[in-house]
Amino acid sequence: MSKLQYDVAIIGAGMVGAALASLLSRSGFSVALVEAFEPKPFDAAEEVGLRVSAISPGSAAVLEQAGAWKLISQQRHRPYRRMQVEDGVEFDPLLFDAPAYNMERLGTIVENELVQWSLWQVVSSGGLVDLYCPDSLDQIRFAAGKNTVLLQSGKAITASLVVGADGAVSGVRKAIGIRQDHYAYNQSGLVAVVGKQKPNPGVAWQRFMSGGPLAFLPLEDGRSSIVWTRPSLEAERLVALDTGAFIEELDAASSGWLGKVESCGPRAAFPLSMRLSECYASKRTVLMGDAAHVVHPLAGQGVNLGFADAAGLVEALVKVRLAGGDIGSDRVLQSYDRSRRSESEAMAFGMHALRSMFGIDGLSPLRRAGLALVKRSWTIKDMFIQRAVGTGKNAPRLASGATLRDLMQP
Ligand SMILES: Cc1cc2nc3c(=O)[nH]c(=O)nc-3n(C[C@H](O)[C@H](O)[C@H](O)COP(=O)(O)OP(=O)(O)OC[C@H]3O[C@@H](n4cnc5c(N)ncnc54)[C@H](O)[C@@H]3O)c2cc1C
Repeated sequence: MSKLQYDVAIIGAGMVGAALASLLSRSGFSVALVEAFEPKPFDAAEEVGLRVSAISPGSAAVLEQAGAWKLISQQRHRPYRRMQVEDGVEFDPLLFDAPAYNMERLGTIVENELVQWSLWQVVSSGGLVDLYCPDSLDQIRFAAGKNTVLLQSGKAITASLVVGADGAVSGVRKAIGIRQDHYAYNQSGLVAVVGKQKPNPGVAWQRFMSGGPLAFLPLEDGRSSIVWTRPSLEAERLVALDTGAFIEELDAASSGWLGKVESCGPRAAFPLSMRLSECYASKRTVLMGDAAHVVHPLAGQGVNLGFADAAGLVEALVKVRLAGGDIGSDRVLQSYDRSRRSESEAMAFGMHALRSMFGIDGLSPLRRAGLALVKRSWTIKDMFIQRAVGTGKNAPRLASGATLRDLMQP
């Protein structure tokens, strides 16, 4: 059995774990990255994937430092400059326009497979990251100075810090014994690629209706990727409908927006939940991305929170390394836990409240008055937009334009 030693061992090379591996290796840390499945190469000749993410400008800045944003922007992607939110009753939508916030875009819609493949190309070339793939976590042995990660292949990796970026059902979280609150919404997010009579002009459009919101996110070819939140049984019914019948229902739900629905590809539905870990760090181990927190996708913030976790951890580790400290010390772990947990919990509860505001029966008069207040208040809109674009005052420096080189200046 080989025994290999690293500064950091990361379990999970999804979008978040792979971004972290690249950022850390480019900052001079030795990194092991363990992943169960090698990602499928991205092929632009194939149909647009069902899973897309709204990548915030803050996350794009982080991916730039990870070396992946250039690869992503050479492939299909679609920036959006306007977010339009309406309730399907009022005809005066809530608008957020990039120029009003001195921004060139509010975000970019990218297929998850493209993000993951771009990051994989970065971490698998250049020899800076040691990849263990296909391989899987078996157990972690915790010790005062170093942890040992035992893999299914029989390999043993020792590291000063272990990172669990292994998704919502995290084996790392289980291994450190961190409890998690799980709130199943009994709703599913139905996703599909849809064409309307008029092309999507680069607007992330969302209509809040009874039962859940419907979002149209712009794609490069003028179609939209939809996320339609419905009660789970209802989502199953919608997935099972024939295409014509589904288009009819989608047409009614999105009436008044870009004309009639003209095409719809395959559909899938994902159950939605909120998961919050009671703490994100313990025993020389930290959690990030969906392993630490899962939020309702209605504001498209899940993976953006994960990229901010990665950027925040890199910032903390570079600082400790410069000061000659131990990157797995309790002080580092506690500071990461404090800063990232408060951000994620604020976002999760914000989404939870927004979701409850637009309950099963739609908007009550009181709630409608609240929405009208948001519309008029620049301060509230400003706070919302700062969080949505990932550059608010608590954002990690890498999300606000700092480079890895800036972090490494003593
Ligand atoms: C319908 C829907 C729409 C969404 N839209 C958006 C959006 O617009 N914007 C946004 O920011 N977020 C969005 N999200 C959330 C986003 O998709 C997730 O937050 C994100 O994919 C989580 O990434 P991750 O890297 O943390 O975890 P994952 O993607 O789950 O990656 C975990 C990785 O770990 C690996 N792994 C797991 N266990 C092991 C093990 N034991 N050993 C080795 N490897 C292991 C897995 O193979 C996987 O590659 C959406 C979610 C849903 C359901």
